Amino acid sequence: MIKFENVVKKYNNLEALSDISLEIPKGKIFGIVGKSGAGKSTLLRTINQLETIESGNIYVNEVDVTKLRKKDLRLLRKNIGMIFQHFSLLETKNVYENIALPLRCSHLKKDEINKRVIELANIVGIKDKLKSKPRELSGGQKQRVAIARALASNPNILLCDEATSALDPITTKQILNLLKKINNEFGITIILVTHQMEVVKEICESIAILSEGKLIQVGETDEIFLSKNNMLNTLIEEEQILPTSGINIKLFFPKSFTESSFITKMARELNVDFDIAYGKLERFQNHILGSLIINIAKNDENKIIEYIKNHNLEYEVIINE
Ligand code: ADP
Repeated sequence: MIKFENVVKKYNNLEALSDISLEIPKGKIFGIVGKSGAGKSTLLRTINQLETIESGNIYVNEVDVTKLRKKDLRLLRKNIGMIFQHFSLLETKNVYENIALPLRCSHLKKDEINKRVIELANIVGIKDKLKSKPRELSGGQKQRVAIARALASNPNILLCDEATSALDPITTKQILNLLKKINNEFGITIILVTHQMEVVKEICESIAILSEGKLIQVGETDEIFLSKNNMLNTLIEEEQILPTSGINIKLFFPKSFTESSFITKMARELNVDFDIAYGKLERFQNHILGSLIINIAKNDENKIIEYIKNHNLEYEVIINE
């Protein structure tokens, strides 16, 4: 388990992390999300102490990592793998050597290193490229090598800093599937920093949303998605063009909600008309969640809201700006 307690980080006058308290359970896939400059990478890098902090405590498996001496810090970092947006591979070394690098520092025998490199290459699906140099690989293949290298010392935590931001959507999905497999098979806790909504939806069981160094929301991803005024919306780049007359109401359909004919039934029962202004079904890991914006006449607002409330649906009246 990873636990942040009142963590403050400053860069000169800038408070990059303001009093962050947060727990990340063991074995989770956890997202740290927010816009660029929110403090996501800084928070991630405090876990393995690539960034030190001004005040607060950070516990990794009950050890306060802010108090570690050099030798213990080295042990901590062995236990925490990390991958980056731009892969950080050694360009002059081939794939085999890149993966073997952390193993060479661990006094393993040559044949043990060989066995482990091949095992890792198999896990990440890159064993036919062991002799290639990084420049001969696609972005997705480079990230696979970086993942293999990060797993070499058998860590139980993997930190991913915008690991799919430089990849196309199909490759992103493949890398996310690989991360899911690693989490599943080896029980490794995965913490991802991302500004990509697709990453959040595809893989994160829980998320923390940061804004300007502050923790503004934390919880299970689908619950946050369904909560009113959730800050995830700030990450969705697509524009919703809504009618400027009448009232726009956004409805959220949770995974437990089976009444798919809800709105047609509502129209019939209340004898009201409405337009569908915007609708979207989204896949969150293995289940579907939906949001729908309907445009109604002002006169119908009260009875429609009453009806929605009686059916225990979450809703939000969208204020025209
Ligand atoms: P994010 O990962 O959400 O994009 P960062 O954690 O990289 O955000 O940065 C948070 C804030 O701290 C930003 O305003 C950034 O400019 C600043 N910052 C990050 N690293 C440094 C640094 N080494 N020196 C000075 N300011 C920094």
